[in-house]
Amino acid sequence: MLTIKPIESIQIGQIQLCMIIDRETVFKKSLFEGIEKYPEKLALLPNGQTFGVVRSFLVRTADRCALIDTGYGSEAGGKTLQILQKAGVKPEEITDVLLTHLDGDHIGGMVEAGNPIFQNATVRLSHAEYEAWIEKGVGRAPQSIEKARSTLALYQNRIETFEFDSQILPGVTARDARGHTMGHTRYDLYSEGHALSIVGDIFHAYPLQLRFTDQSSAYDNDPIKAANVRESMLKEFSQNDRLVCGTHVHPWGKVMRSPKGGYDFESQ
Ligand SMILES: [Zn+2]
Repeated sequence: MLTIKPIESIQIGQIQLCMIIDRETVFKKSLFEGIEKYPEKLALLPNGQTFGVVRSFLVRTADRCALIDTGYGSEAGGKTLQILQKAGVKPEEITDVLLTHLDGDHIGGMVEAGNPIFQNATVRLSHAEYEAWIEKGVGRAPQSIEKARSTLALYQNRIETFEFDSQILPGVTARDARGHTMGHTRYDLYSEGHALSIVGDIFHAYPLQLRFTDQSSAYDNDPIKAANVRESMLKEFSQNDRLVCGTHVHPWGKVMRSPKGGYDFESQ
């Protein structure tokens, strides 16, 4: 039995990171077209699915209180706001909302009853993501694009886009993780020699996609690019000491090569 803690706090040097479980979910085999032909892959999805989570992340530095992704939103069963309030963090205290990308399970928590929740926050996302979804309206289903546009419209004068490899907040750098979406972003936290990467949606059904990194899902906008990013980042992580946490994967910690092939988590 998995024990799911709604919030886990760790210290990355001077940065406090709270990992929040917004909601639980499952990832079904139907996300992986053609998988029926590969019994060794199917075996990693017992009963045709795997358990998953939706996370958001609170990042506190000396003068910032930032949220990385916001979950589904309370109207869709997301608990981020409720968990933050229990932890004594009011929505108006959030100084920055950093987005890995614009899918509904990452931006849903920015809105309640048509109103913006984070009244004082600057919303930060990659220029590539903003351009594809908001300016051009390409790469995702029209209803997803419409949701992203109406959500960001509520934060109209408080949106800042960035280029990859720039420092977004003290100790927080944005990295290019494009593939899942057109501007999908990984955030690297670094302070006093300690490092953790928040990798967004580079994987969903982790028992399958860690072992077979070439296995992209129907959620990935560019399956080949997504597979390349998955493999190259996991390889990088397996060669260094950094901690890794994804949005949809419950285990987190160091990544290592698996004797069975691919990679695995050395859970913390
Ligand atoms: Zn997602």
